[in-house]
Amino acid sequence: MSFLPKISLNITSQQLIYSILVFILIPIGLFFNTWFILRGVDRDIDFELRNKALMISQVMELQIRDSIGDGAKLQNYLNQLIKNVPEVRAIEVFKVSSNDLSPLISTSSLTQSVADPALNQLAWGQNQAYSKKITASLSHGPAESVWLIASPLHDQTGQKIGLVNLYLSAEEIYKINKRTTQDSQYILYATLIIVVAMLLYHFHFFEISILFKRLTEIDKLKDDFVAMASHELKTPLTVISGYSYLLMKNPTILAGEQLKKYSAIIFESSERLKKMVEEILDVSRIEQKRLIFNMVHNDLRAIISSVVAEMSIEAQKKGLRLSYLRPDRPLIVVCDLLKMRLIFANLVSNAVKYTPKGEVVIYHKMLNDSLQTFVKDSGIGMSQTERAKLFSKFYRVYSEQTKDIFGTGLGLWITKKFVERMNGTITVDSIEGQGSQFCVTFPLKSLPKV
Ligand code: ADP
Repeated sequence: MSFLPKISLNITSQQLIYSILVFILIPIGLFFNTWFILRGVDRDIDFELRNKALMISQVMELQIRDSIGDGAKLQNYLNQLIKNVPEVRAIEVFKVSSNDLSPLISTSSLTQSVADPALNQLAWGQNQAYSKKITASLSHGPAESVWLIASPLHDQTGQKIGLVNLYLSAEEIYKINKRTTQDSQYILYATLIIVVAMLLYHFHFFEISILFKRLTEIDKLKDDFVAMASHELKTPLTVISGYSYLLMKNPTILAGEQLKKYSAIIFESSERLKKMVEEILDVSRIEQKRLIFNMVHNDLRAIISSVVAEMSIEAQKKGLRLSYLRPDRPLIVVCDLLKMRLIFANLVSNAVKYTPKGEVVIYHKMLNDSLQTFVKDSGIGMSQTERAKLFSKFYRVYSEQTKDIFGTGLGLWITKKFVERMNGTITVDSIEGQGSQFCVTFPLKSLPKV
């Protein structure tokens, strides 16, 4: 029997969206973080190199100016400089002759093919140093990344007398930078793998927490079931065994009026047990989707009249007025006859059960394409909080007024499921201490999609 809900790991769409976002955003965030840092490092290195190159050019300017007339001295000075400062890969000096720049000295035979005339013109024209990153092989070695800085030379009076091209190697620093980049990438990949693994684990926790929630619910349902069964089973069973024992031990009773009374009590208790077993079986069938609905046209008036006739004895016993305001014209709905009967049997029987005095009325209201049926009583009613839980499985209102009334708390749950399976809706209005009104709405005639 499975009157307990099936365990299914239903992740709500909100939880799913959150997890997907976490799954996407964290790795993207990490990736961009590393990318921005590396880009920043690159930018800073270039900036530093350029500054360094400009500084060297300025220091050289003085020396070059002094020896510009002495070619051998200048060549010697520049060769010395290159030897002492390995980052300086080559130097090229231009001199102004007839308003044009002509090469004067170069420390590498290759500089002239590398030099950038546009950069030279810019530095000359703007009278300030300009730099550019290029790839060149200056000492017959493999191509390397260098900064080419062109800066004008001035004499003591500030007149431009020539131009210096300085080739500053960035290779060493780029090697370090490359290593840093590689290390950062390895760290990024490792972190990404860890984060993805953790996120997968997070899903696992997710499942466990949902499972835990479900198990708690199931545990509570089990407790509710045991509480209900122990009470509702015990009472009728005690009555049956007590009265049958009496009959067994006192044969004189068998002849008297008491026999009828005792048999009626035993019958009533067995009926209660039967109802309880039927309800539990119905819950099981609903949950396993094993119920078959035989949908045919039925006149609702006939169904309700037969329910009212059946309940009238119980109502009379309690001194209640039970009336059905039966319309003249037929009320045809497409439904399963037995299930529809059970819906109204539950509602009318509840109305009678929970109404100590007054009346129970059943009436209809016709809407455009649907039919509303009301079961109204002047009974104990219920609070708003109780109303909200009314259609839950095993829910019963426990109070001084209900403590002696038999019930399983399954009737309304089953009723609602039946109503919905037949394309209807059920609502309740109630005022504590004044009464309740249940309203069931079904489409008129149209064939439901079951
Ligand atoms: P039960 O077998 O206990 O009657 P139901 O599912 O039919 O189970 O009803 C659940 C609870 O709702 C009842 O225990 C009762 O407290 C409350 N209830 C149902 N119908 C009425 C009503 N007409 N008036 C007041 N309370 C009601």
